[in-house]
Amino acid sequence: MMLYYAKIGINWDDIDPQIVYPDMSWLSNVNSSGICPLCKCINRQRYPAPADVMIERSPNEDQTSVLIETTNITIWKKDFVEKLSLYRDGFAIGKCFTSDGRILDDYVTCYLRKCITIRGNKQSRYQLCQSCGAIISNVEPGPKYVLEKELDGSRIYQDALCRFYVTEDVVDDFDEPQEDLAFNAVSVRNTPAEG
Ligand SMILES: [Zn+2]
Repeated sequence: MMLYYAKIGINWDDIDPQIVYPDMSWLSNVNSSGICPLCKCINRQRYPAPADVMIERSPNEDQTSVLIETTNITIWKKDFVEKLSLYRDGFAIGKCFTSDGRILDDYVTCYLRKCITIRGNKQSRYQLCQSCGAIISNVEPGPKYVLEKELDGSRIYQDALCRFYVTEDVVDDFDEPQEDLAFNAVSVRNTPAEG
């Protein structure tokens, strides 16, 4: 079995993500939102509370996903998330605001109750957030995998940074090419690569 990394926005190897900057007063006071104050990931312990975000200004282009700089949060085009919602229930959908209080109707945040850990070679590092329990992977370039025991038979998964991983049938349904979307294989293993 394989999973496929939806290669948009944040990328490990070869494409710089489109970024926007957070509203700094919002970022300094995220304790009351769905964001972990320590690792600046979406805080899954607060599921299903939505994680609303505030960014300085709206993204310049019509991107499927945009990373909020200095955080581990990505905002997504709403129609992309709605398409993924066809394959799995339970997405907690948050709103995206700009500093002047305007809501960006086209963009949302999106997370699931649980996430998977993407692993790589021996040089890869995994950091446990002491506040929210997220496991942040620092995966070296090269082949990546997920442990089978983390999968529950769903067709859509996320890692701690809300990057999407999908099964092959979901990939096949994205037959209309989108400029900033590709899928890269992530293998599924029974045991860690280190043995
Ligand atoms: Zn955290």
